[in-house]
Amino acid sequence: TGMRVAVVGAGVSGLAATKCCLDEGLEPTCFEQSQDLGGLWRYTEHIEAGRPSLYPSVISNTSKEMSAFSDFPFPEHFPVFLHNTLFLDYLRRYTERFGLRERIRFGTTVVSVCKQPDFATTGQWNVVTEAGGKQTADVFDAVMVCSGSFSEPSLPLQCFPGIERFRGQYFHSRQYKHPDVFQGKHILVVGMGNSGVDIAVEASRVAAKVTISTTRGSWLISRVSENGYPWDMILNTRLSTLIKTKLPGPLSWWLTNHKVNKRFNHKNYGLQPENRYFLPVLNDDLPSYILTGRITIKPGVKEFKDNSVLFHNCPEEEPVDIVVFCTGYNISFPFLDESIIRVENKHASLYKYVFPTHLQKPTLAVLGLIKPLGGIIPVVEMQARWVSRVFKGRGANVSPKMQLSLDMFGLTFDEVLKTEWLLYLDTLASFIGAKPSVLGLLFTDPLLALTIFFGPCSSYQYRLGGPGRWEGARQAILTQWDRVLKPTRTRVPAGSSSSFSPLLAVVGFLVLLAAVIFGF
Ligand code: FAD
Repeated sequence: TGMRVAVVGAGVSGLAATKCCLDEGLEPTCFEQSQDLGGLWRYTEHIEAGRPSLYPSVISNTSKEMSAFSDFPFPEHFPVFLHNTLFLDYLRRYTERFGLRERIRFGTTVVSVCKQPDFATTGQWNVVTEAGGKQTADVFDAVMVCSGSFSEPSLPLQCFPGIERFRGQYFHSRQYKHPDVFQGKHILVVGMGNSGVDIAVEASRVAAKVTISTTRGSWLISRVSENGYPWDMILNTRLSTLIKTKLPGPLSWWLTNHKVNKRFNHKNYGLQPENRYFLPVLNDDLPSYILTGRITIKPGVKEFKDNSVLFHNCPEEEPVDIVVFCTGYNISFPFLDESIIRVENKHASLYKYVFPTHLQKPTLAVLGLIKPLGGIIPVVEMQARWVSRVFKGRGANVSPKMQLSLDMFGLTFDEVLKTEWLLYLDTLASFIGAKPSVLGLLFTDPLLALTIFFGPCSSYQYRLGGPGRWEGARQAILTQWDRVLKPTRTRVPAGSSSSFSPLLAVVGFLVLLAAVIFGF
């Protein structure tokens, strides 16, 4: 029998983990505390402990082509950005397609994962689970932790002087479901992440006044990018990643600054971030809502009073009825001993954000902690492909003791954002031999090479060769734009958009050749 792997959680990460274990001939058992799969993407009106809570209006901010599992494109009739119900629908299809359901034990919580006494030689884990009030202990050869990082709210009230005397209502964004609570009220949204901006926009349609307080500001990206194409299909290409990463730091900052300020000047909208790279925020409405006076941007909160708030560097008090703290989440692994993964200051020592650096055997991995600027599914799937091969003892480019460079320390949260989505994918892909060779393809399949280099880095690229090669990968790459146009070109028939004009192809070929020679 194959190696027994315990997978904790049946969200996006847990499903990918289970599938990749099966691909490698391992024996996964996936434990899911709730009664169904999907994790974050399964909306429920009732908030469940230990599982993220969505508001009903959540729509994905990564496009379907850039969010797909690498051997399972989204159905072509699905819209380009997906309402959470459709995202969940896709996850269910994936589960059925690869026969994952029989591997999942629903209603089963992992309560502890401890090293076996002979861990140094066997690398085995003792996994205690609880179902229906009864605890069971089992020995597993390896563990994939896929328990998510959006369920323990971070609410640092001590950073908000006077909050104890504030007489209005306040809650964390995790608590938010419907905008009707904001009807006619003065709303303050603290924090400008994706949820903060979403909630402010929804609130401003019914509230008397909405203010967003942000200390550090943020760049704002719209789903709709150049020429109306999805932002991530324009941004996450090999060409633009090459340019961004090869340019000297200040020049790269200037270029990004220039690009994001093209749509509107962030300074004029009170949004300009500090000179540090943070993850941009995705929202289509905020600029126009600021312009039309529905939402006002203010600096950090200085102090709360009974019915109002004071901001730094602003003399006037602002009346407030409801405060929504969009202050993010803490990462925790309640079922793991501190010595296995210690999270300090939102920082954990994880090799490539996956393997704890100090274990004698690489038999425990964490998936989905990283949050780069791009779809999470391709990332967690790549992590799962790598990890399952390391577990199996092949492609073992991992030994945590291998090299003690700074690179070994994965940072979580803000710090992690310095990791380029595409470079991270490429790095892990090269560990398992699944990184596409653009140069090689240039001579055997130039059309594909050009599409891969200039076009969006959709995850199918990582199924062209190596272990887990998928026959349909080439076709999926060449038809990616068709699936994007299908749901919107609904009045005129969609033509194929993947064909290059001969001149463009020749120029492209030369540019690509130069790029490959000079540094990719
Ligand atoms: P989760 O979805 O949180 O799943 C974890 C699962 O583990 C849950 O089902 C939970 O019940 C279970 N679990 C936890 N502890 C235990 C235990 N001890 N025992 C058993 N089971 C346990 N990403 C994108 O790529 N595109 C987007 O558009 C996007 N939009 C987002 C919008 C919002 C509002 C948020 C909060 C996040 C968004 N993300 C998006 C990021 C999101 O984190 C990922 O898409 C993804 O859903 C994370 O999946 P996961 O499996 O890692 O975690």
